[in-house]
Amino acid sequence: MFRRHIIADNFFNMKNIFILLICSVFLSSCLDGLLSSPEEPCNFLQYKNHRVAWESLPLNLFMDDSTSDIQRESVLAAIQSIHSQYGKEIFNFVPGVQPSNKWQNNWAKKGIFPKDNKSSIYWISTGWPKSQSLKQAVTRTRRRGTSLKEVDIIINSTDFDFFLNNPDSNKLDLHSLYIHELLHSVGLQHITSDPKSTMKKSLGRGAQPQRRKLANIDKESLKCEYN
Ligand SMILES: [Zn+2]
Repeated sequence: MFRRHIIADNFFNMKNIFILLICSVFLSSCLDGLLSSPEEPCNFLQYKNHRVAWESLPLNLFMDDSTSDIQRESVLAAIQSIHSQYGKEIFNFVPGVQPSNKWQNNWAKKGIFPKDNKSSIYWISTGWPKSQSLKQAVTRTRRRGTSLKEVDIIINSTDFDFFLNNPDSNKLDLHSLYIHELLHSVGLQHITSDPKSTMKKSLGRGAQPQRRKLANIDKESLKCEYN
């Protein structure tokens, strides 16, 4: 009697596992089916002809505690500028996060980014990899399927100098650079079809007033995903 009871339990356990397997196969084929009809790219990062984006906004964006007041102010100014131009809150800025130095060596030596499920902005003032020295900043995204999971913005202050309010022909406009990287952080890619876009690939030194203004194509691209 006791033995039969155990066999029945095992049977039901096996049956449950089988049902779960069928369900998961069915679900994944359903998801594949859902992904099979392509989406408008709208200048977003793509996965299987679908836009890769955050499931919900605003994005909590943390900032390395070792950065200066000016560096933090400049991010905030760029975020506020995007919000007022786009008319919607996209970012929630969280300054003063304790930095983790461990990954910085990894980045300098191997180009490895932090993986802590926290989207953060970092400054690298020494030890930016020589092989990447032409890059003013790097925004690295981690995704699962079409969902963004983590984004890190890393500013190259090893090889570049920046200005915020007083234009300097030898320095980069930090405000413009942040606008560009912040839009990368919500999934936008480089835009080559419109010279007015803030998503042009590189930023020249000196004043770049156009690069502080979202072009229509930037706003329309954002709206396409986050309406
Ligand atoms: Zn870029």
